[in-house]
Amino acid sequence: MKEYSFCPICGASLQTGMIEGKERKYCPQCDFVDYKNPLPVALAIAIRDKDFLLIKRGIPPKKGVWASPSGFIEIGETAEQACLRELKEETGVSGEIVKLVGVVRREDKEIYGDMLIVKYLVKVRNEELNPGTEAEDARFFSVDELPGYYLELFKEVIDEVQNEK
Ligand SMILES: [Zn+2]
Repeated sequence: MKEYSFCPICGASLQTGMIEGKERKYCPQCDFVDYKNPLPVALAIAIRDKDFLLIKRGIPPKKGVWASPSGFIEIGETAEQACLRELKEETGVSGEIVKLVGVVRREDKEIYGDMLIVKYLVKVRNEELNPGTEAEDARFFSVDELPGYYLELFKEVIDEVQNEK
């Protein structure tokens, strides 16, 4: 992960010291402390009937991998709003939140480091798919077509969706 060398507020060289029980970088000239927090991500486990809507990621990390639509929660937005916004941006379709599936920690070693992922089950409307700029492709997968890693990651909710009447 990239780190600050200079204070992003005043430009002074950062120093390292023990702050609130942890070694952190801080600015000796102003009050800035370089706290490291996970980045909040909203993720849509998007379904239509019993099929799952995945995107082929067009940007790193994991470029070219089929995954659930997801993205960073912006300032002023709830996790639910971010989830539905990312779904729309990446697939062209809108949806509605069914429920919160869970909140997990994931580490991205490529770029972002620690992420806090808020996962929702989302029912998507019957609209035309139109992958956005951050997706190379978007399509529905039946449970038999889902990639193995995806089945593993979302096993519980996939089983739940399949067993629903
Ligand atoms: Zn400073």
